[in-house]
Amino acid sequence: MPHNRPKICLLFAGGTIGMVKNSKTGVMQPASNVAEIIRVFPEIQKYVQLDFKLVVNIDSSNMSPTIWTKLATTIHDLYDKYDGFVVAQGTDTMAYTASALSYALQNLSKPVVFTGSLIPLNEIGSDGRNNLTYACLTATQDIAEVCIVLGNRIMRGNRAKKYHESIVAVFNSPNFPYLGELGRPIILNEWCKKRRKRTLKFAPNFDANISVLKIFPGFDPYIIENALRRKAHGIILEAFGPGNVPTLENSIIPKIEKAVKSGVPVIIANQMEKGVTNLTAYQGGYEAFKAGAISSKGMTTEATITKLMWALANAKKPADIREIMETDLAGEL
Ligand code: ASP
Repeated sequence: MPHNRPKICLLFAGGTIGMVKNSKTGVMQPASNVAEIIRVFPEIQKYVQLDFKLVVNIDSSNMSPTIWTKLATTIHDLYDKYDGFVVAQGTDTMAYTASALSYALQNLSKPVVFTGSLIPLNEIGSDGRNNLTYACLTATQDIAEVCIVLGNRIMRGNRAKKYHESIVAVFNSPNFPYLGELGRPIILNEWCKKRRKRTLKFAPNFDANISVLKIFPGFDPYIIENALRRKAHGIILEAFGPGNVPTLENSIIPKIEKAVKSGVPVIIANQMEKGVTNLTAYQGGYEAFKAGAISSKGMTTEATITKLMWALANAKKPADIREIMETDLAGEL
């Protein structure tokens, strides 16, 4: 085996890729022995020197900001020892973890590649083997950002969204073109961030005390009042179209004003599958803007939620939140 194979560290954080079927209930559960996973694709060692690190073994619906911090800290601590990192986790919340890590580990000079699978590795027809192999190969490429490798796509982590329970199109990147395509060879597009020497900015903390509220016809403004009463540190409103909110008999504008005046940032996101928030398109968005709301612009809801949590934990003063939310930290805007 060649000695100059790139060194890759595979961080395992659970998901179907490490699950087995419970023979009684038929339900998929995290496997007890995840070291099995690495044995499923021994031939990868021909191309990379792969080390394995178990971080957690959970269904990703149990993923949390505490585990994001643990993942980011593990990568930070091992940063100089490896040429790239792969994180295997469940696809359900992968877009959140990838977005969170893109803020926690800014100015990357090497890739952090997320992957997972819909079918367990030890089942026939599993997508896990392919995804894991391509994730490891992508981690050797000239990329320096957090990305997601699934199906035949390489996507920017904080631009991606879970889209489908189909092994060929699990994820999509609605507002940003793919970073590359998997195949022989792997093709990278020119807009993907390239490896170069730069100092890693490590800021692994998140404040999860936020409220994310979907606006719907008939939305009671009291729902926002409730968020304020439970002392949420920030509020995200998923509004209609490009960011419009009710302004007539059920107007939520006074509640937005109240939140902003009491120092609680309000972010307007949108409910569109492929859409950009624009608070100057209609009166419903403009009034929210005048009341002090901040636009999520082209960010996905996942990127917006994790960024607000990151901003709340890292802003020196509350007034900095707006600037952080409106600044492109890691290609999310
Ligand atoms: N429920 C699983 C999870 O997100 C699905 C997957 O692994 O893709 O953990």
